[in-house]
Amino acid sequence: MFIPQKIFFEQNVLQYPLGKKLIERYKKMNIPMQIIDSHNNIEELRNRENVDFPKMKQYLILGIRKTHKYVPNHKVSDYLVPYTSSGCIAMCLYCYLVCHYNKCAYLRIFVNKEQMIKKLIDTSNKQEKELTFEIGSNSDLVLENTITGNLQWTIEEFGKYGKGYITFPTKFDMVDCLLNLKHNCKTIIRMSVNPEEIIRKVELGTSTLLNRIDAINKLYKAGYKIGILIAPVIMVENWKELYLELIQILNEKLDEDVKKNIFFEVIFMTYSYVHTKINEEAFPNAIKLYNKENMTGRGKGKYMYKKNLRDEGEIYLRTILKKYFPNNEIIYVV
Ligand code: SF4
Repeated sequence: MFIPQKIFFEQNVLQYPLGKKLIERYKKMNIPMQIIDSHNNIEELRNRENVDFPKMKQYLILGIRKTHKYVPNHKVSDYLVPYTSSGCIAMCLYCYLVCHYNKCAYLRIFVNKEQMIKKLIDTSNKQEKELTFEIGSNSDLVLENTITGNLQWTIEEFGKYGKGYITFPTKFDMVDCLLNLKHNCKTIIRMSVNPEEIIRKVELGTSTLLNRIDAINKLYKAGYKIGILIAPVIMVENWKELYLELIQILNEKLDEDVKKNIFFEVIFMTYSYVHTKINEEAFPNAIKLYNKENMTGRGKGKYMYKKNLRDEGEIYLRTILKKYFPNNEIIYVV
């Protein structure tokens, strides 16, 4: 269980049942608390040094989400939906949620969940066709659920009243509480995987590969539609060997009926100057992900793998996926 080192909260969260519940829970545990004006701008955290990054990941911020704008998306979903949390307590060295300075990285929970599910259900019902809504693009909802129970509640509410599908990715295995829910086949869960060596060295604080695979098997048995996200592909020195081994482990450990029905997404790692700075100072002994031989600029302060290497990677991954999962769809490679 995550025990925050400190809570920062907007006073108004006490007007919401979830806010009240969380504040009461952490008061009983004598967790230090501080009132803030806005979850978006916590001066004290904004000015902290990069070296404090892991410490800040131990804080919990409670606020009210004010922006509810859905962004059209054209990958596995039709819209990206701002939902009940943002940030995370894990520390993947490439995390795309780490933006300017440190302020977007720590876990923020938004307590106005009733407002968010209402908009989600109403929007889904207004559509002519069944659309898919990505609710997990700003955080890891399986992780958040261990603190709030929001994901369980969302899956059942959407299952009862929503139209189309909700979907979210995760790197965590705490899924037992999702297995007996009445999801009504309207939830698509996408498990993100990487070779175990990369998980250990880069995806700090997330579940092991074997536990993630076990979670996929259980969720599939519970009737959920499941996808596998190979993401992000990190082209370390022995990447070919590592990713081949990953696909072989998936082939060996996934249940036969899961193998028949899963789909894949593949995403190559992008990186940034901000990551380099935070990681150098906060994790001086960690593996270095920026490699100037292999990477090239992609907009201001951002890096991606050079085209020839990226193309080689795509061909290789498509080839090994075809060999071990010949009938499964690869929705996209980016
Ligand atoms: Fe970021 Fe996801 Fe890793 Fe959390 S689990 S640090 S949200 S990439």
